[in-house]
Amino acid sequence: MSSWETVIGLEVHVELRTETKMFCSCPNRFGGEPNTHVCPVCLGLPGSLPVLNSRAVEHAAAIGLALHCRVQRSIFHRKNYFYPDMPKDYQISQYDLPIDADGWLELPSGKRVGIERAHLEEDTGKSTHVGGGGRIHDADHSLVDFNRAGVPLVEIVSRPDLRSAEEARSYVEELRGILVAAGVSDGKMEEGSMRVDANVSVRPLGSGSLGTRCEIKNMNSLRSLGRAVEHEAARQVRLIEEGGTVTQETRHWNEDEGRTSSMRSKEEAYDYRYFPEPDLVAVDPDPDWLETVRAALPPMPADRRRTVAAAAGMEPGSDAVVTVVRLGLDGYVEAARSAGADANLAVRRLANEVAADSGSVGNLEVGSWVALLAMESEGKLTTAQARTVLKELLAAGGDPAEIAAAHGFEALDEDVLAGALDEVISADPEAWARYLAGEDKLQGLFIGRLKAATGGKADLAAASGLLRARRAAASP
Ligand code: ADP
Ligand code: MG
Ligand code: ZN
Repeated sequence: MSSWETVIGLEVHVELRTETKMFCSCPNRFGGEPNTHVCPVCLGLPGSLPVLNSRAVEHAAAIGLALHCRVQRSIFHRKNYFYPDMPKDYQISQYDLPIDADGWLELPSGKRVGIERAHLEEDTGKSTHVGGGGRIHDADHSLVDFNRAGVPLVEIVSRPDLRSAEEARSYVEELRGILVAAGVSDGKMEEGSMRVDANVSVRPLGSGSLGTRCEIKNMNSLRSLGRAVEHEAARQVRLIEEGGTVTQETRHWNEDEGRTSSMRSKEEAYDYRYFPEPDLVAVDPDPDWLETVRAALPPMPADRRRTVAAAAGMEPGSDAVVTVVRLGLDGYVEAARSAGADANLAVRRLANEVAADSGSVGNLEVGSWVALLAMESEGKLTTAQARTVLKELLAAGGDPAEIAAAHGFEALDEDVLAGALDEVISADPEAWARYLAGEDKLQGLFIGRLKAATGGKADLAAASGLLRARRAAASP
C-alpha cells in the first residue's frame, strides 16, 4: 500500500430542513404512518404540477455561500430512470446548471477541499423488501412508502481532493458542522438526513493522473465511511498488483461483512436522457436577496475555531479547539474570556471533562462556569477538585463555592499555601540549600511534602510557581 495513493471525491446528499416538500405542500417530516404525507404531486400523478419551495432555494443558496461557491442562475432537469419508489419515473434535479458551483471547504487541518457543485433535487420514496433478508431479489414482496418522495435535497459534490479515509471523515464532519450551523439540516447520518457516496481510486504515489474510480454506496456512519474507503482502496491496489484493472462501477458497502461488492456498472449521464423540466422556470437569484441570505449566516466552524484558538492561545486545528467547536461550546469560551477568566483552561476543561461527560453543558450556567474557572486559576481548588465540582455542575447545576465547601474543598488561599510552603522549607534547610544551588530535581521533594502538609489540598501548579518565586527571591 505504501507506494500507492488513495484519491477520494465525495457526493453528499443532504435533506433540507423545510416545513414542506420540494414541489408540493406536504409536510417534510421524518417517519410517520406510511403514505400519509402524500399528494398528487409527490405521488407523480398525471396532470399534477410542481411548485418550487422558496425555503429550499434559500437553504441551497446558504449552502453555496457557506461553501464559498458562486450562487448562480440555475435550471431544473428531468433525470429519467426506472425508480420503483418514484412513480413518475424521473427525478427533478439540476444538471449542467446547478445553483452552486466552484467553492471550497476548509478542514481543521487547514487543507482546502474543492467543491465542484451543489444542486437541488427531490428525494425518492422508500422501498422495504419483505422476506429474503431484506434484499430485493430474494424478497417475497415489497412495500413502498412515499412519505419521503419529494423531500428537498441538496447534493454536494467535492473535487477528488481527499487523500485518506481519515480526511474523508474529517470532510464529512466539517460539512455536517457547516450545514447544522447554517440551519439547513439536522445533519443526522443515522436518520439519513446526510447520505454519503464515496468515489475511490488509487494511483502510484507521485502520479499526476487519476486512476479509475468506483463509487461506494450505503455507508450510514462516519465509521463505516472510513472502513469502506480503506477496504476499497486496498481491494483496488491488490487487483492492480495482481495484473488486473479496476472497472468503473457502483459498489455496495456491506457493514457486517466489512467489504464492498459490485452493484451495477457505472451509468453515464446520457443513460438518464436529461432534458429541461418544462414545468419549472429558471431560478435566478437576485444579488440583494443573496446578500440577505449571506447576512443571516452565523459564523462557520472554521472561523469559530480561529476565534476560540485566539482566545485560548492554541492552534485552530488542535484537538481541543476542534472538539469545543464541534460540540458548539464556544459560547462558554467566550464567556470565560469576556469575564477575564483563563480561556485556555476553559478550552481544556470543555474539551476534556465536558466532552467526556456527555458532550453537553447540561445544567451548567455561565455564571457558575466562570466562577469555577476563577477558583481553579486562583488556586482555591486543585485540578482534581475542580473536575469534581464541574461534574456536579453539569449534572445538577448550583453554586461552585457551595459544592466545593460541601466536599470539604475549603479554600486554600494563597496565604495559607505560602505559609505551608515556608514551613516545609524551614523544616529542611539542607535540602533547600541544595535546591538553591541548582539541584532542580528537589522541587518534587518540596511539592510532595507540601501536598502531604496540606492534606492534598494544595494547588500543585500554584505551589510550583510559588516555590520557584521563593528560589528567585533567595538567589543572589
Ligand atoms: P457521477 O454522477 O458520475 O457520480 P459526479 O460528478 O456527481 O459524477 O461525481 C463524481 C465524483 O467523483 C466527484 O466527487 C469527484 O470528485 C469524484 N471523482 C472523479 N474522478 C475521480 C477519481 N478518479 N477518483 C476518485 N474520485 C473521483
Ligand atoms: Mg456519483
Ligand atoms: Zn405532496
